[in-house]
Amino acid sequence: MSLAIPAISQGVLQTLDTCPRQFQYQYLQQFSQVEDPIFSQRQRWGQQFHRLMQQVALGLPVEAVADADPELYACLERLLADQPWLVGSRKPGEQRQVEIRLSLYFDNVLLTGVYDLLVRWISPVAGGQSPDQTAIHDWKTGVHQPASRSLKQRWQTRLYLFLLAEASGLPPETLTMTYWFVRQSPIQSVKVPYSRRAHQATAQDLRRLLDQLQQLIVQPQLLLPALAADSPACRYCAFASFCHGQLATTGSRGRPSNGVEAVEPPLDWEAIEPLPL
Ligand code: SF4
Repeated sequence: MSLAIPAISQGVLQTLDTCPRQFQYQYLQQFSQVEDPIFSQRQRWGQQFHRLMQQVALGLPVEAVADADPELYACLERLLADQPWLVGSRKPGEQRQVEIRLSLYFDNVLLTGVYDLLVRWISPVAGGQSPDQTAIHDWKTGVHQPASRSLKQRWQTRLYLFLLAEASGLPPETLTMTYWFVRQSPIQSVKVPYSRRAHQATAQDLRRLLDQLQQLIVQPQLLLPALAADSPACRYCAFASFCHGQLATTGSRGRPSNGVEAVEPPLDWEAIEPLPL
């Protein structure tokens, strides 16, 4: 048995770390999941917003979206009114990249991530030496905003900062990742700093997870035990009927309840429809 995915993304790592059994169902046995219409609708909305931001960054007109999806357009306008520099013209010493994919082999496994916006700023310091600062910006389109602590621990944060540090060779202390919650009014953001210590901890955890992944691939007959039925992960899991003989809470993925953090639908860039221009 082999892994039916070409590269390891943050979503794969998050699933493996949260529930290895879910990873087996989803990526090794490739069980199909029951489609949740609310989840799918939120996923489409998120995809459209990302495409819209990409088009704004390219200088393409997007006004036609105002009629097609007023809420989408209102969120865009609110973000740009609040933080116009996110799509503004480049300042001297500033480099920007939009929707850039970074991939890197780590212990012979290809890790990958797509960055909504990367901004590298070389701050001028009188007299010479100037520290590079590089910021990852990520649009979050979920209805609810997870706690900052949860965001820092999520594999998207950890993997994106790790990949950037490894791929660029930049010191971890010069990197940050900021999440923008575009459906909040006013717009909310959470900025996560990085450090050498966090980088080493991520490398260690990555090795642990990739070792576990290899074990699962070579032992396809081994079905790992289920989490306790009242685990937060089981509440919204599409495989709950396999593990606990019951259906997961339908129509509610992404809705925090009883302390469960909202999980934003992952983006499938290949499936994003172009916006009407
Ligand atoms: S229902 Fe729970 S134990 Fe079963 S796969 Fe999903 S998260 Fe894992």
